[in-house]
Amino acid sequence: MVNWPSNYDDPWTLAGSVSRTGVCLHSGQVTEVHLCPSRKPGIHLSWMDSKDPPITLHPSQVRDTPLCTSLEVGGRRLSMVEHLLAAIAGCGITHVQIVASGGEVPLLDGSSIEWVEAIEEAGLQHAPTLAKKTLPLEKPLVLNRGSSVVAVTPAEKFSLVGLIDFPYRPIGKQMFSVILTPEVFVKEIAPARTFGFLDQVEELRETGLIRGGTLDNALVCDGEKWINPPLRFADEPIRHKLLDLIGDLALVGFPKAQVLVYRGSHGLHSDLASELHKHSSNFAKDS
Ligand SMILES: [Zn+2]
Repeated sequence: MVNWPSNYDDPWTLAGSVSRTGVCLHSGQVTEVHLCPSRKPGIHLSWMDSKDPPITLHPSQVRDTPLCTSLEVGGRRLSMVEHLLAAIAGCGITHVQIVASGGEVPLLDGSSIEWVEAIEEAGLQHAPTLAKKTLPLEKPLVLNRGSSVVAVTPAEKFSLVGLIDFPYRPIGKQMFSVILTPEVFVKEIAPARTFGFLDQVEELRETGLIRGGTLDNALVCDGEKWINPPLRFADEPIRHKLLDLIGDLALVGFPKAQVLVYRGSHGLHSDLASELHKHSSNFAKDS
């Protein structure tokens, strides 16, 4: 059992290396990801088939993709990174190296919990160098994409309020609010799985996407009901939305702020990450 850090103030890395293998949602291929300790602050990526040194991940590498978050790093793409990055940042890891075998991160069970279990297996240790930090916000920040809105107000701690409003009866309006710590992330957010709608699933399959999607790695709703219950939380969808937001903020670090997001999307989250990046201390030097 790991004793999770009590907050996000200190630098942590893994005590050992660990790996997971699984099917990728979009390509349907099986890929492998290793997580290794790092002395250097940040999240670094290298490829199993290349001797090139690891590249430090940075918000400018994020590519706006409708169904997941992708990174373009050294001319190569790594897709579906958000649940892995959420687990890394959510657990309080500030120094880590990712070694990937292919262009997509395996979906595992559609949540972050299997990555959290991998991190538990590796164990945590104090990192030898300071982590990158976001500077305190001086004033509130509001961003929107259409009717999707995110509002950030300076606060003592990092807290999240998420709201969604879907026309589908099983989801409807949901709100989840939390002061985030690694322990809260592991218990309340990490197990929440991604969700989708049956009509969209069929459409995406026809276009050759979500080849690896099954009823084991996503909650699927047909408009009237969940077709693969039980849910892990009655409000699992909004918790997963916050999981995605946490993943999308992983490359800038968590602000000392309350982040309120209404109908969040990866595009809106990455707009927020770019804005917060302007307030980050050490990134400015290496970008
Ligand atoms: Zn997700």
